[in-house]
Amino acid sequence: MAARRNLRGLLSTADVGAVNRGRLLQSLIDDGPASRAELGRRVNVPRASIGVIVSGLLADGILQEDEPVPPADGIGKPARPLWFTRTALLSGAVAVSRCCVEIAVVAAGGDVLARRAVAVDTDRGPDRLDQEVLRAAADVLGPFRDRLCGIGLSAPALCSPTEREVVACLPAPGLVGTRLPELLEQLFGVPTLLEQDVRAIALGEKWFGLGRGRRDFAALQFDVGVGGGIMLDGHLWGAHARYTMQLGHTCVDVDGDRCKCGLTGCWETVASLRWLRRAAAVAGIPGGRTTSPARLHRRAAAGDAAAAAVLDRYGDQLAIGIGNLVQLLSLDLFVLHGAVVGAGPDFLAALRAKVLARVMPELATGVELVYSRLDQDSVLLGAAAVVLTRYLGAAA
Ligand SMILES: [Zn+2]
Repeated sequence: MAARRNLRGLLSTADVGAVNRGRLLQSLIDDGPASRAELGRRVNVPRASIGVIVSGLLADGILQEDEPVPPADGIGKPARPLWFTRTALLSGAVAVSRCCVEIAVVAAGGDVLARRAVAVDTDRGPDRLDQEVLRAAADVLGPFRDRLCGIGLSAPALCSPTEREVVACLPAPGLVGTRLPELLEQLFGVPTLLEQDVRAIALGEKWFGLGRGRRDFAALQFDVGVGGGIMLDGHLWGAHARYTMQLGHTCVDVDGDRCKCGLTGCWETVASLRWLRRAAAVAGIPGGRTTSPARLHRRAAAGDAAAAAVLDRYGDQLAIGIGNLVQLLSLDLFVLHGAVVGAGPDFLAALRAKVLARVMPELATGVELVYSRLDQDSVLLGAAAVVLTRYLGAAA
């Protein structure tokens, strides 16, 4: 039922059916389980038409009817909400990072049916890395080979998703020149899509996380690296751009330090764990060189003024870039990922105040900052969301 939208021509009858199915499933993912009547209201289609589409999705094992729920007003028949079966629309997710590849099989409802993490050596060039990843992928995805809609491959890299090419990768240079997209496609016989990890995370938040039902938001990662993906009007911003954006390497300090990317004053030079650890070490905080926002938070809560000061400065430096995004795109939801999540609720409240202090009052209204709840699964779920987005022809 792959819905391939040909933007230059009319849709065939089969295409229309696939697009309608895709819209209905997108509505479920956006706004949660719903009865046929509720779905009809959401997508503005008569109940009889919804019934035909839903019958097909039930017969195909994509949706199931859950236990009846009495109507809120107590009048009328209890409705049976529709939701995905535990094995609906399986995606393969392959997430390569500096020293590890995580592989999973993810269903459309967000259930992870199989997973494995394997250490890989990203310093020995793409050929060796490709073989290591393929071996691990065969183990995890192999048993699901005939049921996968596609495979999402994520990398912490500057990519060309349309050319399926890793162009530059500071954390794992051995990924440049990888042939994994075509090799995975050959091995499993399904489309394989390459995406930058932080942009995949944004799609993951839309399908499975706090971005569900929201059309405009940014998912921002503050960890060893700094980056983000932006959803605008329900679409991943830059989906058809030549290259993935490099938010962590936008300049926030004209006299700033040289960054590992070769530029100076990048946001990453002042908002990464590397900055935090250096600042903690300079402040004489025990274990500063390997510290984290979580550890500094605990020290600050116990009365360590130096730890509180480092966290406060860290917040100032995160707020510069987030404030710039508010000014640039008028975004009002920022979902934070990475080690920053350990900094605790007080840090988040202070960070929001710092952001609001950096934006014009009109744009400050309603700005929310939240910690992601997808935790360690955010990249894997993001890679699966890349597949679902393309497969259903949704928000692409
Ligand atoms: Zn840089």
